[in-house]
Parts: sequence; structure tokens; C-alpha cells
Amino acid sequence: MFVFWDIDGTLMSCGSDGTKALNKTFFELHGTENAFLRAGIGNALDFAILHRIAAECGIEDFDINAFAPAYVSNLERILAENGDKRVLPGVVALLEYVRGRAGWESLLLTSNLRAGAEAKLRSVGLWSYFADSPCGGFGDAPGEKWDAAPAAIAELAARSGRSPAPRDCILIGDGVYDIRCAKRIGARHIAVATGWTPAEILAAESPEYLFADLADTARVVAAMNGASGAGSRCADGEAVP
Ligand SMILES: [Mg+2]
Repeated sequence: MFVFWDIDGTLMSCGSDGTKALNKTFFELHGTENAFLRAGIGNALDFAILHRIAAECGIEDFDINAFAPAYVSNLERILAENGDKRVLPGVVALLEYVRGRAGWESLLLTSNLRAGAEAKLRSVGLWSYFADSPCGGFGDAPGEKWDAAPAAIAELAARSGRSPAPRDCILIGDGVYDIRCAKRIGARHIAVATGWTPAEILAAESPEYLFADLADTARVVAAMNGASGAGSRCADGEAVP
């Protein structure tokens, strides 16, 4: 089983550090203030968000390859100063569970740029769970999360020689975007309300499972294994009739 993790609001919380770093970088490189406020953003990969901001701010010479290293450097500094960043409840126990189970693997499926993902996870001590896996879905390319996911699965198949079917993949995420992504690619999924999105909004998307947080390892592991209630809408891990 391949467990694809979202980062922000799922594995960890670092508040608005990503946005702060993006704003700082747009200002330093292009003189644009509050770039994030000026551009309407929604659930999207960083590649799309950054290009949308650049277009809406009239930045004609935007180059993501120049932007990314400056952004990561700002992000690392901002993360280092954030005393409130943290791993979310239950996450380490679940990563350990996956690590210890033969044939199971944790991978990333995130809107973050690859380098930004690494910076965030390093800042809270979670990078070691993903450092050995070159595969994953990141926000460095055009498209949506449901485009990044099959690309990650194909990369995984090329590396491991195993070709997982969509139902051999579980997406765990805190956003509507994560649920929609899982449904579009036919993967199993677990929604968790530890991010910005309220549980009611997540529930309205009819996820397979919905937890308030991932603290109850046994119940989340049961969901990962497709235990009772699989395929039905759940609230806080319990089936909703
Ligand atoms: Mg998230």
C-alpha cells in the first residue's frame, strides 16, 4: 500500500509561513507587495499559484527557476523563527506504522514545490520519513494535484517495478482538493480536519473517512486498512448512517 501524504494541515502546521515566504520573495525579486493578497488563489499547485500571481501582478519576466531558491531560503529563515510550528497529532505514530509494515510506503502528494516541501518537513523533523523516497507528487509542474498523483505513481512503478492500482494508494489530506484528487484518480482516501478547512466542509465532499485529527492511531490504521465503514461517509472515524 502506498500512503500519499499532504503536508500543510495534515502532517504539520507552520501557520502562514509559506505565504509569508512567497510574499517576501515576490517583494525582493519583483517589488510586489502582498502578492498573495493581490492574486485570487484557491486550491492549486504552487506552480499554478505562482504563475497566476505573476500574471495578475503584471510580472512579465517571472522565472520559477530563479524564484524557487530565493523562496526556499526565505522559507527556511521564517520557519526557523516560528516557535509555533508543529507536527500534527498522531502523525509520527502513523508514519512509523507505515515504515514498519512490509510492502507499505509513505510518499508525498503536495502542492508545495519539492524544495519547499523538504524545508517544511525538515523544520519539524519529519523529512527522514521521506528522504529515501525519490518519488512523490509536488507542485513544481503545471497541472492539478490529480495530474501530479498519476505522475508520482508512474515514477514509483518505474523505480520499484511495482505498478500500484489506484486502490493500492491512500491519500491523506486536510483539504477539499485532496478529497477531489483521490476521487479523480480512484484512490482510497482519509480526510482530516486539522488544517484550514472545517470538518463540515470536508464532510460535504463525502470522503471515505473523516477524522477530527489523526491522534487515535488504532482507528486511523483501521481506516487505512479499509476496515468497517470503508466506502461510506464517516465523521470522526465513525460511520455516518
Ligand atoms: Mg493541506
